[in-house]
Amino acid sequence: MGAELAEYVIGPESLPRFFIWTLGCQMNHSDSEEMAGALLAAGCAESGSLEDADLVVINSCAIREAAEQKVIGRMGQLASLKRARPGTRVVLTGCAVREDNRPALAKRYPAVDLFLRPDEEPELVARLGLATPTAPGLMAGHAPPTLARVGRSVAATADRLPGTRASAVAGGTIRRESQWEAWVPVIYGCDKTCTYCIVPFSRGPERSRPFDDILAECRALAWAGVHNVTLIGQNVNSYGHDRPPEERFADLAGGRTLGRRIDTTGRPDFAALLRAIDALRLEGGEPAIPRLRFVTSHPWDLTDRLIDAIAECPSVCEHLHLPVQSGDDAVLHRMGRQYSAEAYLHLVERLRAAVPGIALSTDVIVGFSGESERQFEASLKLLRAVRYDQVFAAAYSVRPGTPAARLPDDVPPGEKRRRLNALLELQEGIGWELNRAWVGRRTEVLVDRADQPSAHDLGETRPPARGVVRVSGRNRENKLVHLDGGPELLGRFVDVRIERAGPYSLQGSQVGSTIPE
Ligand code: SAM
Ligand code: SF4
Repeated sequence: MGAELAEYVIGPESLPRFFIWTLGCQMNHSDSEEMAGALLAAGCAESGSLEDADLVVINSCAIREAAEQKVIGRMGQLASLKRARPGTRVVLTGCAVREDNRPALAKRYPAVDLFLRPDEEPELVARLGLATPTAPGLMAGHAPPTLARVGRSVAATADRLPGTRASAVAGGTIRRESQWEAWVPVIYGCDKTCTYCIVPFSRGPERSRPFDDILAECRALAWAGVHNVTLIGQNVNSYGHDRPPEERFADLAGGRTLGRRIDTTGRPDFAALLRAIDALRLEGGEPAIPRLRFVTSHPWDLTDRLIDAIAECPSVCEHLHLPVQSGDDAVLHRMGRQYSAEAYLHLVERLRAAVPGIALSTDVIVGFSGESERQFEASLKLLRAVRYDQVFAAAYSVRPGTPAARLPDDVPPGEKRRRLNALLELQEGIGWELNRAWVGRRTEVLVDRADQPSAHDLGETRPPARGVVRVSGRNRENKLVHLDGGPELLGRFVDVRIERAGPYSLQGSQVGSTIPE
């Protein structure tokens, strides 16, 4: 380049190198992909570590106190990084930033310079002063934020997010974590108000993305060679009830069989969405996206229409995450879950009849307010009855501002730990037994990682020999499968014969050649 032009070159050193630290659920990971993409589009570079970054964005989780403490515990380190490099800026976003706790944030998170609620994340680039005519920040042209009452609180709504997502998709500015797998948000917020949960206060009421926007994003992903799409939302399966009625959905009437009734006539539902994405086909008739998954589903919204769609769409994987939370009706009632253990078991029966071999996973909370030993045992009984492939269990953690915070937190911490360990031990046995049944079977694995399995995964006390197993992936039933092979298998479907089973994963060998893309 001629020296005379040098003065016009904007040096990359003038823009911050950013690091995004993401905690919590898939929704946060997807939101971080949008923020990373926006920062890259503004010309910032990504830093490999928090220590080397000039801009640290923390996408927080507030589902349990421990998640918030993880971030609070980093305040000292961040403060010393800022002292060492005074230009460093820290942004906190995610569920820890709520409209109702704004006044307390600066004290709780003293090293943070800027707090953004989840619905304000698309403003990141503009609020940092990094917006330019070519990278204007996604809020340009979108309506101002809106607030809604949630119980006794006020929460920001996600009104703007369907639009800002559409802009990010159209602008190609989402920095996806994987080439082969993608998250696609379909609904923001949560209407369910489970009494223990902070999400309705941090994310506000449900807002569904337009049906055609989701389809367009999926079509583009299929075209880009993505093999696995996971539709995400706090309650994906309540998708559509807030969309305006349309002629093309005129034959859709409410199909909800549990809990609150909403007139859904003429509005799209999640079953229609799954069928429409499944209907994206290649010339040969195969699904353009071979694997379609979704999290999280609420038992209220698991309609017969949805079960039929899961059963009939070849791309929809044979796995469902269906949080139960407790096996006791009185506890479920106090949790505001709106179903009984029997109704839940009935759903499981219907699912298994419709989709034989479907793998099931769930969330359970132990030690919720007033949970007696007998009520805890009802959760163990439910685990024995359902025989889940995987259980995510946690001890109840009081979340200030939620309805359950007004109930006594009367199960002592030691007892919560004991119940948690007892439940995990029971589940380890069940998971291991179910995994053993895979030994000798062949299964299709989408390889997505080059790594070593941990001894814990394999149920062994010693770590595996180095260099023996080098890649892993998931089968359609969402089982983690380790196999011998190199990075050339990444992003490939591999036919694997299962040879060994641990409580949390399977191990096998490739059979024949990889399935061509
Ligand atoms: N929307 C999903 C559902 O229907 O349950 C779950 C979303 S929530 C982010 C993930 C899980 O966190 C819940 O299923 C629940 O088990 C757990 N969780 C939520 N609040 C909790 C609390 N206060 N204490 C312990 N676990 C909690
Ligand atoms: Fe929280 Fe319940 Fe909503 Fe799940 S359904 S996000 S647990 S309030």
